[in-house]
Amino acid sequence: MADNLSPEDRRRTMQAVTSKATRIERKLWSMLAGMRVRGWRKNAADLPGAPDVAFNELRLALFVDGCFWHGCPVCKRPLPATRRDYWQGKIERNIERARRYNLQLQQMGWRVARFWEHELLRDPRAVRRRLRAILRTRRRAMNQQQIAHTTQERLEAWRRACTRRGKLSRNTLAAGVVALHHLRHAESLPASRETLFSAGGELKQSRGKSLTTILSAYGLPTDYLKEVTTRQAHQDAQRLLEALEWGALLTPLTRDDRDALLRQLIGALVQLAQAQLQQ
Ligand SMILES: [Zn+2]
Repeated sequence: MADNLSPEDRRRTMQAVTSKATRIERKLWSMLAGMRVRGWRKNAADLPGAPDVAFNELRLALFVDGCFWHGCPVCKRPLPATRRDYWQGKIERNIERARRYNLQLQQMGWRVARFWEHELLRDPRAVRRRLRAILRTRRRAMNQQQIAHTTQERLEAWRRACTRRGKLSRNTLAAGVVALHHLRHAESLPASRETLFSAGGELKQSRGKSLTTILSAYGLPTDYLKEVTTRQAHQDAQRLLEALEWGALLTPLTRDDRDALLRQLIGALVQLAQAQLQQ
């Protein structure tokens, strides 16, 4: 459609529209800068919906939704008097599109957070609070994923290294379970070798009633093994603890997350043992 603006005026008009559109985004950016948060970039055009802010490492995307353009239920901004259907349709499409972007990002493993324009303008403190909480949770989740991944890989490498003549012995499996059980109950991590092994190099609680109690607590039959008898198995237990850096690998986790991960690792060993029992 022809307009009667000079090129210069048209440029100025476009600029005005653009700068109005990014006013709240700029507010978010300066807020993040003020919070001394790092590791983010603006207008990530390579991601669905070009998030206003993208934290690549945390895989976290932030959007600010304009209250008019996204039909904010709080502000209930009135539609222009003319062409109401046009505006209504436009807003509905914006909402729909935002929903689709959320879904696409989530499917890529991203977490999405959306803020309303009015929140940024009227209650920046609340926005900052929410941002901090989101970042904290996200950092924790990413940390957890990374650590879980590493420990699982190391457990798997240990399993391969300890498989001899195609078999992981009952002694080694039981010693592995006990070693991980020790990490769960260690007073602090990393655990010291002296607290987990006798002077003679024997894994503690690896015989008699202690052993039976531990193994059955994780779902193995009470007659699975009466005593870890081979020297090899005690050494295997030590290798497993070394692979996990005596638990140092888990120290960034909260106590609960740490415990959940150790239970998961023990569960993997118990599954192997149970599979062998069924053969
Ligand atoms: Zn609003």
